[in-house]
Amino acid sequence: MGERLELLGEGLETFRAEASSAWAEIGSDEEPRKRFKPINRNQLMIRPLNVERLVEENDPVRAIWAMVCRLDWSRFEEGVKVVEGGKGRSGYDPRLLAALWIYAYSEGVNSARELSRMCAYEPGCQWLTAMEEVNYHTLSDFRTRDKEALEEMFVQVLGVLSAEGLTDLKRVMQDGTKIKAQASGNSFRREEKIREHLRLAQEQIEAMEDPDSEELNQRVIKAKQRAARENKQRLEQALEELQKLEEGRKASEKAPRVSESDPEARVMKQSDGGFAPSYNVQICTEASNKIIVAVEATQAGTDYDQLATGIDGVQANMGQTPEQMVVDGGYIKNANIESAAERGIDLIGPVAESHPEASLEQRGIRPEFYPDQFRYDAHTNTFTCPARKTLTLKRTNQREGRIEYQYRAEASDCAACPFQSQCCPKRSPRWILRKEDSEIVKAFRAKMQTEQAKQIYRTRAEVAEFPNGWIKEKLGLRRFRLRGLRKVNMEAVWAGLTYNIQQWTRLTWRPNLAAAA
Ligand code: SF4
Repeated sequence: MGERLELLGEGLETFRAEASSAWAEIGSDEEPRKRFKPINRNQLMIRPLNVERLVEENDPVRAIWAMVCRLDWSRFEEGVKVVEGGKGRSGYDPRLLAALWIYAYSEGVNSARELSRMCAYEPGCQWLTAMEEVNYHTLSDFRTRDKEALEEMFVQVLGVLSAEGLTDLKRVMQDGTKIKAQASGNSFRREEKIREHLRLAQEQIEAMEDPDSEELNQRVIKAKQRAARENKQRLEQALEELQKLEEGRKASEKAPRVSESDPEARVMKQSDGGFAPSYNVQICTEASNKIIVAVEATQAGTDYDQLATGIDGVQANMGQTPEQMVVDGGYIKNANIESAAERGIDLIGPVAESHPEASLEQRGIRPEFYPDQFRYDAHTNTFTCPARKTLTLKRTNQREGRIEYQYRAEASDCAACPFQSQCCPKRSPRWILRKEDSEIVKAFRAKMQTEQAKQIYRTRAEVAEFPNGWIKEKLGLRRFRLRGLRKVNMEAVWAGLTYNIQQWTRLTWRPNLAAAA
């Protein structure tokens, strides 16, 4: 027993000595390296994937698909030649391409290349395409292929929402929002410069057609030729737009300039006070559920002449005009008040306050000689001035929704008057305007004094600005991706379509899903 203990003691001593020597080799202060699972990327893997499970049951992409499957796609199928049992390669289902774009806009993506990339990795796109990739040419072409078909799709979605009781034309709010164009302020040029660039573009195209060209790659040549042709077309369009602006130019205005990047864009004042090439998108929103019932991009810098755009859009999409339109002061002018009344629409909007004092001050007139100091006599249809001289009617002008009567003093009276320097220092003799609104305008003004009309107007901002904010903040559409009024209009319709389907998802699809669960 003693001998065995002695052997064990010797064994322990040997182990300690060996361990001590190994420890000394790696450094006595360091601990052994930790061990982890290896990362091996040099391998191929096959895993089962349930495409249906890529997205949750309540994912909005399913709502988009559910909606597009309720629409009639015959218009989009008109050009398709390949039929079942026949020859040829199958094309993409228009429902899929439309759903992809609606999903892309809902995710703040408006680039065809980005959407094509998303098809390779983004679960919503993968679910829609069933793991197929869709190239960006197909996506890009589909987005702008048929404007009328797209507008018909917008109307069909409105039809679904109406059938479910989500739209009501009793009250519609119209508002305009500026969305920047795909052009910079530096791209604006006057005629001379555009003509020079057009000449250079023509020379470039001719040089490319030279058979002795050193460029060997045919694809590169074709791409460059296409780009040069498009550039030339844009410059030619810029000259046409210049012509239109020139025709409407007042003598006091400077020579117009047009963007060479997007000739149909216009420089517009932005909400932050700055100016940028933009389009003014008119949006009509019904008040019951804030559904967009009309959307149209325009080149107008202000909303002043755009009331008809909104009313016509609602009529085209919904088959009838709204009972009541609520707009801000930017739309209120006598012509709009009268045209709304003629179409049987109850217009609600703030009565513009006129400030004649500013113009009187500019004319150098002192407050003691402002028009309210002149006495009107309806019997004789004359005014009497503070110096007791008579101003008689000289001219009558029929303007939009009102008649303007101009009264003037006798030149000899003003010339001899001691108050002339205070009453009409810049233009003598003194004249005064009396304005008489039409009966329709008078009725509108009286209505807008009532508490009921004021109360309705107070609800305008919440409804009208909701879709504007949604499109810019949630869809991220602060700058159009496409150029030209036609394509920009289509992009606006895609955004409106996406917005409406999102409201339907919120108001109907999700509650129904929760109720069924
Ligand atoms: S300037 Fe002429 S209009 Fe004015 S107070 Fe004298 S007379 Fe009257």
